[in-house]
Amino acid sequence: MRALCWEGAETLAVRQVPDPELRNAQDMIVRVRRSVTCGADLPLLAGRVPHLAAGDVLGHEFLGEVVEVGPEVRRHRVADRVVVCSGIACGACWFCRQGLFACCDNGTTGAAGAEPEWGQPTAGCYGRPALLGGFAGSHAEFVRVPYADVGAFTVPEGVSDDRAVFASDAAPTGWMGAELGEVAPGDVVAVWGAGAVGQLTAAAARLRGADRVIVVDDHDERLRMVERHVGAEPLNYRYLDVPAELRERSGGRGADVCVEAVGPAAGSPGLFAGRPGRRADGPLALREAVHSCRKGGTVVLLGTGTGFVDTFPLGAVLDKGLTVRGGRQHGQRWIPMLLERMARDELRTEHLATHRLPLERGADGYALFRDRADGCVRAVFTP
Ligand SMILES: [Zn+2]
Ligand SMILES: [Zn+2]
Repeated sequence: MRALCWEGAETLAVRQVPDPELRNAQDMIVRVRRSVTCGADLPLLAGRVPHLAAGDVLGHEFLGEVVEVGPEVRRHRVADRVVVCSGIACGACWFCRQGLFACCDNGTTGAAGAEPEWGQPTAGCYGRPALLGGFAGSHAEFVRVPYADVGAFTVPEGVSDDRAVFASDAAPTGWMGAELGEVAPGDVVAVWGAGAVGQLTAAAARLRGADRVIVVDDHDERLRMVERHVGAEPLNYRYLDVPAELRERSGGRGADVCVEAVGPAAGSPGLFAGRPGRRADGPLALREAVHSCRKGGTVVLLGTGTGFVDTFPLGAVLDKGLTVRGGRQHGQRWIPMLLERMARDELRTEHLATHRLPLERGADGYALFRDRADGCVRAVFTP
């Protein structure tokens, strides 16, 4: 089959690779119809993540058609149209039974890679290096789906591929942001980042009844999308002082829930840049979220980072009595509900698929996505 392979820093190429095969009784094989770029891929693409090898297939958010099922697969048949959770979890271990699918004990085969970093292994993920299981990615014609009954979900008729594919990762990640923030009616919620995850966090906060949802970014085009498609308020940090603006929009108290959806090394440079004694290369958006959050509020981290950050404002967290939470999404818990909301037209995601390309143009798609060129929010590949 053809697949989009990582070949070294900033280099991708479509190669002929062996077709995936069933390895376990609970596996199935899916023919990919849609596979999406994700911000979490960019450090991999840049070659900043260890344990990635030349020839590895990228991609972890996808939708397709079942072409082969293992003998123990009960919920799926050949020809079913399914969306697959980007995280790989067994559904049976202690963590999965608590609904903490992203913490699954059995999702990764290469636990030795994760333990020195995090103390414990976590769930696997498609298109990731050995650290997250070494599973082949979805930018390919076919994908092997382990624990198929746990991680794959039949897409309701009437929900388009371009909408449903976001139920794989971006929509459950956004839902997780609102869930960890315990967003409730009356809340003022601020979200840093107007990419797909930030927009879908804002959408989730609105669905949960938040009073005001404000999205912080510096891309006017993305912020217009936030207004038009999500019904949230834009806040461009290039023109406005974010903490002051959020205080103003929350009756002076600060946002109740602040969600970081840009990644720990990114964010608006305004708050601490250039001040004597302050380093500007730390987790800027996270620091601004801590600064802007009301006393006793919750800060949620969704942006991807596997390492360490410097200049984390621990004192502000303590003195303001903040709750800080974060995680990768437990999509297996929420994907059926999200698909139902998509079917009822409550959750619309297809506007995020700004660029549709054949797999052959994968390298171009990633370049557009990485550089946010031509208004690219997400590039969607069709093999
Ligand atoms: Zn993703
Ligand atoms: Zn498990």
